[in-house]
Amino acid sequence: MTSSLQFQHFIDGQFIASADNLIDVINPATEQSLGAAPDAGAALTDSAIGAARAAQDAWAAQPAIARAQYLRRIAAGIREAAPQIANVIAREQGKLLALAQLEVGLAAEYLDYYAEWARRIEGEIISSDRPGENMFLFRRPMGVVAGILPWNFPFFMIARKVAPALITGNTIVIKPSEETPFCAYEFARIVESAGLPPGVFNLVNGLGSTVGQQLVTSAAVDMISFTGSSGAGSTIMANAARNVTKLSLELGGKAPSIVLADANLDLAVAALRWAKTMNTGQACNCSERVYVQRSVYERFCEQLRADFATIRMGDPLAESSDMGSLINRAAVERLTRQVDDARGKGAEVLIGGKGHEAGAGCFFEPTILINTGPGMDVLEREIFGPMLLIEPVDDLDQAIALSNDSEYGLTSSIFTNDLNSAMRAVSRLKFGETYVNRENFEAIQGFHAGVRRSGIGGADGKHGLYEYTHTQVAYIQS
Ligand code: NAD
Repeated sequence: MTSSLQFQHFIDGQFIASADNLIDVINPATEQSLGAAPDAGAALTDSAIGAARAAQDAWAAQPAIARAQYLRRIAAGIREAAPQIANVIAREQGKLLALAQLEVGLAAEYLDYYAEWARRIEGEIISSDRPGENMFLFRRPMGVVAGILPWNFPFFMIARKVAPALITGNTIVIKPSEETPFCAYEFARIVESAGLPPGVFNLVNGLGSTVGQQLVTSAAVDMISFTGSSGAGSTIMANAARNVTKLSLELGGKAPSIVLADANLDLAVAALRWAKTMNTGQACNCSERVYVQRSVYERFCEQLRADFATIRMGDPLAESSDMGSLINRAAVERLTRQVDDARGKGAEVLIGGKGHEAGAGCFFEPTILINTGPGMDVLEREIFGPMLLIEPVDDLDQAIALSNDSEYGLTSSIFTNDLNSAMRAVSRLKFGETYVNRENFEAIQGFHAGVRRSGIGGADGKHGLYEYTHTQVAYIQS
């Protein structure tokens, strides 16, 4: 029996313990409690926003290269504490320890990457129509950013918001998911050791309906950077309208993958295995629907089924496991309902289709459904689990039409050895991201963004950096 994990809010450079409004956190692989973390409530959330506000001018006044030194120190602290952090992530979220280690490493790399941008935050000089006038365009920080996070990459997501926000001169209040607060506390401990000025980074735990709502509706918050479900994203958008607060929304996905007859099928199978085992299919960018050209459909289904049969689902901390658990019991129930609904409407389960009994861990078998169609929940809503739908198509045009027929527009992929088909798909798939002959995994220097119900704005790279700025133009007559 291990001792309970601890959580304290971090406001204005101080850790604040509280025993009020405790929210129990479950290890989903065992369904045992890991400990409880308090909800900050309105007063503490307001003090976190106030601390961020008070610290912002002085932080923005530092040269970016000075701010970068703090990011590098936090990155170094993360690398030093990596084994401990990865262990916490795996236990509170249910992902494999190896993936948790990768997540921690990526968080450090992300901070280093944006530290490199310190010398490249650039404005423009524009020629004026007036004699003797210069027009200067400056990138200014938004001010106070509220970063509201999901549970699926709970540690990396902190870095993804903190790094671009801080390097451009903003201060931040982070609210982790109430399902995964403990790794966020680890992040705050590293921030404290790195000596970041008080108020620049603040952490408050709590529910979306309490702390999240408070952050979104506060007039003292200048930007909301939200990653989570499309449903919560639209509520946040409506609530942010009150103060016309700037939004960056990274929301849900329902990624299609197209497999053409000329594709390297082994590569496609390996990529789809990765998609569904990586984080147990709980990634916004992972494939949920596969459209396979009819001539190779049977062969492909059999190859993928045989591959899925080898996936060892089990203890996230054990090296022998290929796939961990879902986030909670509600997720097991959601996937079970989706399978029942699809089956009742004529779909067939090729492999898998069920979860463990309550109390035995929130595991769900790697699952393939065929003969799915309109009106099935599994086709219309995000699955967010280790389940794939595979359907035959006549040609690329039909595959593209079916792929685009979705409320979501985050990621998509195609497997083909024909350059024309690949380029045609890239130009016609209406998604923020398209992978060609490759598994789903975005790069730090790319741009991760969705269209339609998948979001507004985006993260990573140069374009993700400037999300955290507004543009000021100075007209200077001399
Ligand atoms: P969620 O929407 O349930 O919660 C996300 C966060 O929002 C949590 O911190 C929650 O407390 C908070 N929240 C909920 N309602 C709120 C409200 N009304 N006001 C303010 N805050 C509120 O999402 P989740 O279950 O934690 O995460 C899974 C979802 O995230 C999936 O839909 C997934 O596709 C999406 N996601 C998207 C990306 C991306 O980059 N596009 C990345 C990861 C996850």
